[in-house]
Amino acid sequence: MRVLVTGGAGFLGSHLCERLVRDGHEVICLDNNITGKASNVAHLLGARFTFLEYDITNYIHVSGPLDAVMHFASPASPIDYIRLPIQTLKVGSLGTHKALGLAKDKGARFILASTSEVYGDPLVHPQSEDYWGNVNPIGPRGVYDEAKRFSEAMTMAYRSAHGVNTGIVRIFNTYGPRMRIQDGRVVPNFITQALCGKPLTVYGDGKQTRSFCYVDDLVEGIVRFLNTDHPGPVNIGNPREMTVLEFAHIIRDAVNPAVDIVFKDLPVDDPKTRCPNIELASRILDGWEPRVPLEQGIKPTVDYFRQAMQDCD
Ligand code: UDP
Repeated sequence: MRVLVTGGAGFLGSHLCERLVRDGHEVICLDNNITGKASNVAHLLGARFTFLEYDITNYIHVSGPLDAVMHFASPASPIDYIRLPIQTLKVGSLGTHKALGLAKDKGARFILASTSEVYGDPLVHPQSEDYWGNVNPIGPRGVYDEAKRFSEAMTMAYRSAHGVNTGIVRIFNTYGPRMRIQDGRVVPNFITQALCGKPLTVYGDGKQTRSFCYVDDLVEGIVRFLNTDHPGPVNIGNPREMTVLEFAHIIRDAVNPAVDIVFKDLPVDDPKTRCPNIELASRILDGWEPRVPLEQGIKPTVDYFRQAMQDCD
């Protein structure tokens, strides 16, 4: 296949590109590098992999055929999308429109990287795809949540109005090598804090829950989904749910048992729970389920941060 990946130099995008190249496909990766970085994909450059620094909120032209357009471009960490609210809204709206137009033009399957954030602060638990969500459109996270909700609506409109073979995947918390050290999310924060002997910063009382999926498991689910004609939305994530405080203990035990745990203010609109129902994924993706236990997946993640960190300040 010949596949275009937007946001291909980001954390998830780079793992997806790597997997597609390894599977023998030709990949064109577009990224404007506002949260991605070219070095994430530098090792892939070659006959089957092209990287172009480009802002996909502008018209996208690609010559030659495409079998798939995979739209993974967006800031995805709360501190990034709060810092970049307009870019986040633009890539979810204008960027999705442009990427869909390209897929339509090429007759390509279109995959939208959506998010568990469409469920907002969920009132249904675990979250299955038929839940409509509980989102504050004007809160700090609204720029991301609503951009992704719009992008889902736009994707469905291109399916019904233009017959594009679209698929929506809702991605839950994912971790692994190439997460940005400074992106403010709980995984890089706790691991770098533990590596530096600093206290782990638990926000609120730490009773809010998250469910963490290793990146290879996520990519496997997405590649299987690419190879179907299913419209989704389909949740991809790891249903092992834990409190943030439990997660802090797991990281502390694994990385540096000497560090303290301290409590900081809970960010506004921080969802209280998050756990994917993955029955649909299992049914339509040939029994897909996460295989990598957290205790195993954090090892390569910690190794990555150890190497990537310049110093502890
Ligand atoms: N969190 C935390 N300490 C940190 C960073 C995050 O306790 O240093 C919490 C955050 O409040 C949230 C959870 O960890 O409840 C996951 O946050 P993250 O930013 O990773 O992603 P989210 O799932 O909220 O999008």
